[in-house]
Amino acid sequence: MPELPEVETIRRRLEPLLTGRKIVRAEINDPRLTRPIAPEELATALAGQEIAELRRRGKYLLVYLESGLTLVIHLRMTGSLRHRRAGAEQIAHERARLELDDGSELAYRDVRRFGTWHLLAQDELGEYLDARVGPEPLVPEFTPELLRERLAGRRTALKAALLDQRTLAGLGNIYVDEALWRARLHPARSAGSLGKPALIRLHDAVRETLEAGIARQGATLRDYALPDGESGSMQAEFRVYGREGEPCERCGAAISKTRIAGRGTWFCPRCQRRPV
Ligand SMILES: [Zn+2]
Repeated sequence: MPELPEVETIRRRLEPLLTGRKIVRAEINDPRLTRPIAPEELATALAGQEIAELRRRGKYLLVYLESGLTLVIHLRMTGSLRHRRAGAEQIAHERARLELDDGSELAYRDVRRFGTWHLLAQDELGEYLDARVGPEPLVPEFTPELLRERLAGRRTALKAALLDQRTLAGLGNIYVDEALWRARLHPARSAGSLGKPALIRLHDAVRETLEAGIARQGATLRDYALPDGESGSMQAEFRVYGREGEPCERCGAAISKTRIAGRGTWFCPRCQRRPV
């Protein structure tokens, strides 16, 4: 599933290609993508719009339009975007297509169909995002103190708290496991139990892990690809994710796998000990 580094990579790649372009025609053929409104209705609203800017908030890709509307895209599990010459052959599981005024088009593919496209007015956007995502971890305002506030009093497992997008925006199963390994914190320990040194380690680890992911242009395991079809390479840098039984590169112990918050969870049983 695309997480912050994957969505940010897509945003950076698409920004120069889409900014200033006009949507000549939109075609959306999946009612699940746009519900509660009909796909034809969204397609009609998008036609003729000019793209002003691409931003990201957590795992949401935000296509700001000159009209003041914003197309809010969430890729969920298997959504991906492809930028190509208009009229190119459709790919399997293609759900939507935006034809642009320079002879190119943006195609959206989604095998599992959990992704969403919503068109929001300026005054709806802030409220929509604030209800769904907490602070961005890569902005200067994100400090160990802010992290302490987000986790304070929470008895849930640390991993579950970090997967909750309202705690911090953009982390998912991969980058949480990787950040917890870097911070040497057990994924099941109580989220509110971290002392100052642990909070500082976790703060730094979250940033370093996400930045490494962006530098490697994301992790391609299955469906994630860059808009030109290329793959990311972060999967080659995983320290724990998917590495059950392999030696921890810090201490040599075999990486363990368990289940936390319903998700497969990998950690080093020696350097991520659970406090007693
Ligand atoms: Zn270890």
